[in-house]
Amino acid sequence: MASPKIKLNNGNEIPIIGLGTWQSKPDEVINAVEYALKEAGYRHIDCAWAYDNEKEVGEGIRRSGVPRSEIFLTSKLWCTHHGRVEAALDETLANLGTDYLDLYLVHWPIHLNPNGNHPKFPTRPDGSRDVLTDWKIRDTWAQMEAVLAKGKVRAIGVSNFSERILEQDLLPYAKVVPAVNQVELHLYNPQLKLVEYLKSKGIVPQAYSPLGSTNSPLLEDETAGALAKKYELSPADILLGYLVAKDIVTLPKSVNPKRIKSNIEGALAAAKKLTKEDVEKLDGVAASGKQMRLIQPPWGVDLGFDNWPVRVQGRD
Ligand code: NDP
Repeated sequence: MASPKIKLNNGNEIPIIGLGTWQSKPDEVINAVEYALKEAGYRHIDCAWAYDNEKEVGEGIRRSGVPRSEIFLTSKLWCTHHGRVEAALDETLANLGTDYLDLYLVHWPIHLNPNGNHPKFPTRPDGSRDVLTDWKIRDTWAQMEAVLAKGKVRAIGVSNFSERILEQDLLPYAKVVPAVNQVELHLYNPQLKLVEYLKSKGIVPQAYSPLGSTNSPLLEDETAGALAKKYELSPADILLGYLVAKDIVTLPKSVNPKRIKSNIEGALAAAKKLTKEDVEKLDGVAASGKQMRLIQPPWGVDLGFDNWPVRVQGRD
C-alpha cells in the first residue's frame, strides 16, 4: 500500500510513513527493509549512523530491487561528528551504498567530544557525558548547508531540537530552514505546541517512537483501545493513524513482517476513519495525567523541552 506524501520546504515530497530502524539488529534489518520495500509498499526508510546498521539497511534496499530513485532515504549526523559533517556523511553514504541522501538530519543539538574516551558516548572522569558546551550549533548547520549545496543530500533537517534551540541558536543564523524536525512524538507526548510552531515555520514534524518504543505502555491505552474496537482496528493502528491524520510524518520500527505490513496499512486506514473529534480526544490523553517522555539520554544539558517524567533513563 503506497503511503501519501507531504511536501517539504525544498519542493520534494516525503512519504508520510517511514520504516524506523533503531535497535533493529543488523541480521534482522536486511530482511525488514527488503520486506518493507518489496512487499509492504514502504518507500521511506529512516536510519542513522549511530544505529550501527547502515550497511545492512543498504543491503536490504539492494535486495528489494526497488530503484533507489523511488526511495526516500534519511540518515543522521552523530553527536561526535559535528566538527566534520562532510566526512561523516561520506561514511554514511558508503555504508548505505548510495551517492545521495534524500534527507540528512543533525541527530541531537549536542556536540560530544570527538577525541573522548568512546566513539559514540564519550564521558568525563566523573561519568557525565563529554559535551562540548561551547560549540555553536550554527557551525554544524553551516556544514550541513555546504553538503546540501554540493548535492550530496537533497534536504537537511534536525532532530531533537526544541522551539528554544531553533529560535535562539539556529534560525537566526541559517541560510536554509530545516526541512524537518524529528522528535519524540506520540499519544503520551503529542508536542502540540512544538508541532504548531514547526508548521508556522514550514518545518515538517516527524514522529519518532510513535508506538511508544520498546515495551510500549501506549498499546494498552484505554482511549486508543476504545477507538480500535470502534473501528475494528488494532491499538497500534490508532496510535499511528492519529499522527498521520495530523499530517505528521510517522516512523514505526518493526522487524516483524506481519507488523511491518499492518503498521502501514493500519495507519492509513485509521487516519481515514478517525474523526476530528477522535483526534481532539486523542490530543487530550497526555494532559489527562499520562504525559511522559520515553527517550531522554542523560546529556546533562537543558535542551529546552518540557521536563516531563521519563519512563526509561539513559536511552539514545
Ligand atoms: P516505535 O514506537 O516505532 O516502537 C518500536 C517497538 O514496537 C518495537 O519493539 C517493535 O517490535 C514494536 N512494534 C512495532 N509494530 C508493532 C505493532 N503493530 N504492535 C505492537 N508492537 C509493535 O519505536 P522506536 O523508538 O524504534 O521509534 C521509531 C523510529 O524512530 C526508530 O526506529 C528510529 O528510526 C526513529 N528514532 C529516532 C530517534 C532520534 O533521536 N531521532 C530516537 C528514537 C527513534 P518489533 O520490531 O518486534 O515489531
